[in-house]
Amino acid sequence: MVNDKTPVLIVDDDRVMHTILKKMLEPLGYAPIATRSGAEALELLKRGDVHLVITDWEMPVMDGLELCRAIRSEDLPGYVYVIMLTGREGAQSRIEGLDAGADDFLNKPLNAGELMVCLKTAHRILGLETRDVALFALAKLAESRDQETGDHIERVQNYTRVLVRHLAPDVKTRHGIDEQFIRLIYQTSPLHDLGKVAIPDAILLKPGKLTPAEYEIMKAHAELGAQTLDAALRRFPQARFLQMARDIAATHHEKFDGSGYPSGLSGEQIPLCGRIVALADVYDALTSRRVYKEAMSHEQAKSIILHNRGKHFDPDVVDAFLAAESLLVEVHKRFNREDPVWPATLLAANAANAGGEELGEGYKILVVEDDPFMRKQLLALLARTGCTVLCATNVDEARRMVAEESPKLVISDWEMPGEDGLDFCKHLRRQQTLSSVHFIMLTVHSDQQLLLNAYKAGVDDFVSKPFNADELLARVQAGLRRATLHGELLKKTNDLRSINMQLASMNARLDRLAVTDELTGLYNRRHAMFKLEEHWELSRRTGEPLSVIIADVDYFKRINDTHGHGVGDMMLHRLATLLREQAGNSDTVCRIGGEEFLIILPGHTIEQAHAFAERCRAEIERRASVTRDRAVQATISAGVAARVPAMLQFSELLRAADQALYAAKRAGRNRVHSGDAAPAPPPLPIDIQRVREKCGGDQSFAAAVIQRFCQQAGHEVERIAESLASGQLDALQRRAQNLRSMTAYLSADQASDLSRRIEQLARDRRADEIGALTDQLRHEIAGVVDWITQNVEAMAAG
Ligand code: GH3
Ligand code: MG
Ligand code: MG
Ligand code: MG
Repeated sequence: MVNDKTPVLIVDDDRVMHTILKKMLEPLGYAPIATRSGAEALELLKRGDVHLVITDWEMPVMDGLELCRAIRSEDLPGYVYVIMLTGREGAQSRIEGLDAGADDFLNKPLNAGELMVCLKTAHRILGLETRDVALFALAKLAESRDQETGDHIERVQNYTRVLVRHLAPDVKTRHGIDEQFIRLIYQTSPLHDLGKVAIPDAILLKPGKLTPAEYEIMKAHAELGAQTLDAALRRFPQARFLQMARDIAATHHEKFDGSGYPSGLSGEQIPLCGRIVALADVYDALTSRRVYKEAMSHEQAKSIILHNRGKHFDPDVVDAFLAAESLLVEVHKRFNREDPVWPATLLAANAANAGGEELGEGYKILVVEDDPFMRKQLLALLARTGCTVLCATNVDEARRMVAEESPKLVISDWEMPGEDGLDFCKHLRRQQTLSSVHFIMLTVHSDQQLLLNAYKAGVDDFVSKPFNADELLARVQAGLRRATLHGELLKKTNDLRSINMQLASMNARLDRLAVTDELTGLYNRRHAMFKLEEHWELSRRTGEPLSVIIADVDYFKRINDTHGHGVGDMMLHRLATLLREQAGNSDTVCRIGGEEFLIILPGHTIEQAHAFAERCRAEIERRASVTRDRAVQATISAGVAARVPAMLQFSELLRAADQALYAAKRAGRNRVHSGDAAPAPPPLPIDIQRVREKCGGDQSFAAAVIQRFCQQAGHEVERIAESLASGQLDALQRRAQNLRSMTAYLSADQASDLSRRIEQLARDRRADEIGALTDQLRHEIAGVVDWITQNVEAMAAG
């Protein structure tokens, strides 16, 4: 996701929607990818580089709901945010959508503003995903010191999710478990062993069973983890994920019967998340290999877990375990790839014969040792790891080798003639790029203060001479893992930083784009309508006057044609400036079309507004030029209207101003006309202006949509009639919905309303009432098509 454009997957069987969405998404800096079926979409999502999906609801074969469910059950890499396109209304279908896993909905016909708001939310949510990555990396770092087998946390995380999903419905209800809880526990369960970071290596890495005393120390990890997260919680007391992570870290070793640690809590005293992770953690421990034990089969583990139902484990969670058995086995299979450096290592080292399995092919280890005997011993031992072992006899040589070979791990003697091991370590740490090298110091020192200083200088670990072969190998292996993870973490942090910055700038851009017109910096049409509605409501309630002016540039096409579009643009900018100069603080100046401006004047009577418009007109006539020689000039015509009580909607106010504008144009241009409050003419069957708006202002595209309507709408009504005759109400419902979406695009409100009612009747299985409405709809659509055909010339003229 570190490229310029965020990919968005469009899933729709209708190619027209592909075009609409592409046209809307591309200017916003997205890279739309269009697919026509859910199956195709899923394949793409599995690759993991697309996280944002806009899908149609109604599609043949796999519909939007099924696609959502598939996305949620597939365990795709990273979270996929799904926006559903729908012509459906009402809470019921939203609930259905949410239930299937949709994140948000967009209504058909599409509205650019809504789309932008929706995308903004998507970004915010996907941004949270980066938090998951950070949490995961943190957990991985903790795990890197542990000797649990690779992927332990992935398994526990997935077992946990499977378990919580399979809790009995009444248990879920009792605990208020929803998707958010599931997401949260999935994110936070990896932190259960965070406290192990603070457990000494000698205990954590001990290749064998712990003594009772050592076990006591090990047990402290639960409280240590909780303390760490408590500290974080004090800074972010609202963070639910920290709260849950804390609960899990603190209580995942508590037992249901009260015999666990650290607090001996029992039953419902243990937070549910802790009880679930407890079982997941134990199940994984049982079914994984350890240095000192082989892995148990699922059946063996199961019998232990069943035996502990109500003792170690919450009976509800054990029941979920039984309900989810096969899925748990599947998770185990999926995540049992054994880490290349583990656990074969210690098994090999333990089995005294060398030549067993290898530690870490491809890694480089540098040994710095001046004593030939020690050097030989180290080289022989490290040869067993399968790593490439480099060797330096002094610090000078070592520096050169580090620069040339970039080893992952360094084992250095402390005392050496000339510069010593500590100097070498300091040298390494001064270089940023080498900060992830793991540094093990060989030493005979045992003075606490000396060791402490060495830690501060950047030494990661100490091995005392003479060394124990097993111990050294164990530390090397832990060091390699840590160095690798540290490297990955650094990279991830950098990636995250750049992603976050990208998102921040994109959000800022979207905020701006959402309300302003790029060319003039004035408010755009969308925001204009929003503002007007606001003022309309205010005026309606308070009775304060409200006037609007629509101003249109005269013969603007000529300016473009004569001087070029660039000069035209400059002129628009100039006009915007002049209009803004005239406007007062409470007035709103907007650009609502190519060369059309709307000025909202709250508190102005029509006379005051007229005077205002006249000032604007005169000022523009005098000053609107964009070249020094005043060769290019412009004038405007303006229509003025004020709200009167007979008007029911703000669109009527706009219409009145528009009519006044055209009167001004007809009267010769460069003048202002005020509308009288004539009653609105009967509405046209469709509103071309609205159609164009819905098509993102693209005229040729609007024409295509209209054409499609003329070609298909009639057929669609006939198909509704056929479905009715053959009693196929589901198909009928889909067709009615399709027709509703089509008619809504044309703002053919009557037809749209009829389609909606038919759709509802089909849903309610009230077939006998559908026939009459279908006849009406047929009639209505024929009327619209006729009207379009007759007015086609006028429309082409725009
Ligand atoms: P009238 O006096 O009847 O309004 O004539 P007119 O030429 O101004 O009106 P018409 O609607 O025929 O032409 C408007 C022109 O505005 C056509 C279009 O190319 C131009 N236009 C629309 N948006 C922009 C823009 O953003 N920049 C430039 N330079 N021109 C634009
Ligand atoms: Mg633990
Ligand atoms: Mg015009
Ligand atoms: Mg014009």
